[in-house]
Amino acid sequence: MSAQIIDGKSIAAGVRSAVAHDVEAFSEQFGGERPGLATILVGDDPGSAVYVAGKQKACAEVGMEPSNHPLPADTSREDLAALIDRLNDDSSVDGILLQLPLPGHLDGVELTGMIDADKDVDGLTPVSSGRLTLGIEGLRPCTPQGVMALLQSAGAQLEGAEAVVIGRSNLFGKPMAQLLLEANATVTTCHSRTKDLPAVCRRADVLIAAVGRARMVKADWVKPGAIVIDVGMNRMNTTPPSLAGDVDFDAVKEVAGAITPVPGGVGPMTIAFLLRNTLQAARLARAKGATI
Ligand code: NAP
Repeated sequence: MSAQIIDGKSIAAGVRSAVAHDVEAFSEQFGGERPGLATILVGDDPGSAVYVAGKQKACAEVGMEPSNHPLPADTSREDLAALIDRLNDDSSVDGILLQLPLPGHLDGVELTGMIDADKDVDGLTPVSSGRLTLGIEGLRPCTPQGVMALLQSAGAQLEGAEAVVIGRSNLFGKPMAQLLLEANATVTTCHSRTKDLPAVCRRADVLIAAVGRARMVKADWVKPGAIVIDVGMNRMNTTPPSLAGDVDFDAVKEVAGAITPVPGGVGPMTIAFLLRNTLQAARLARAKGATI
């Protein structure tokens, strides 16, 4: 039987419209103020410029105040650090997003770490990551949050379930595993040194692939009825160019209980949760302001 196709596009649209509604309520409550998202784009990488423009547009569409801070590719560490400091101190800015990767002479991990954790809408600073690990309230990384929402919409029963995450990046795999653990799943994280990966994957009630290898996960890696979430975004040299996931979708959908397509699965959730994080950061800032 063919799997339920999890429609990330429509679920993300639902999240965005809920955020838009809540932004209006926020604005009424705070005398017309609106949550502000500042993006920093260093250099002229066309892919990064497209991502930043997409985030700015999505932000404006839900009634937030976007601002972009483009810097030349040869910006010094000191100048970028000074901009981050300035944005940290600017009360009209609720969320700060430093678009990665940075040009080679700049250390993305170090500079991301300078963002005030209460404005860290990507959830990638050491403080945010520590809060996640310790179960302290904070801003969580966007894509893993998006995956949790997709699992919820597919009716996943995570408590006690076997969840397998392929990939251990700081951006996705590690925070994903933490969120699943928080939801009381039994979590296995796989990586390039995992032995007999297909056998480990076959244990999974929930299988999440974030590797960056087109169609790596085959049908015989998947337990019948499992929920399969495909985070991979692999650009294929087809005419016209196309996008493939890490899962062999056509074959796996005949075995899985539910599955995300690529495109139209996880991808749209990331920006939706960036917007939600920005609203959360704005609420947090007002709540803190009220108690000072
Ligand atoms: P990454 O930093 O390159 O991490 C890839 C992970 O896959 C690593 O942990 C690596 O293991 C593991 N891996 C590589 N080859 C493997 C193999 N043969 N068997 C098992 N594990 C293997 O990538 P990422 O940033 O997490 O992204 C992964 C994919 O998700 C990419 O396609 C990316 O474009 C996509 N992505 C999409 C979104 C979205 O919004 N939809 C967001 C984030 C990422 P080692 O640690 O041992 O090297």
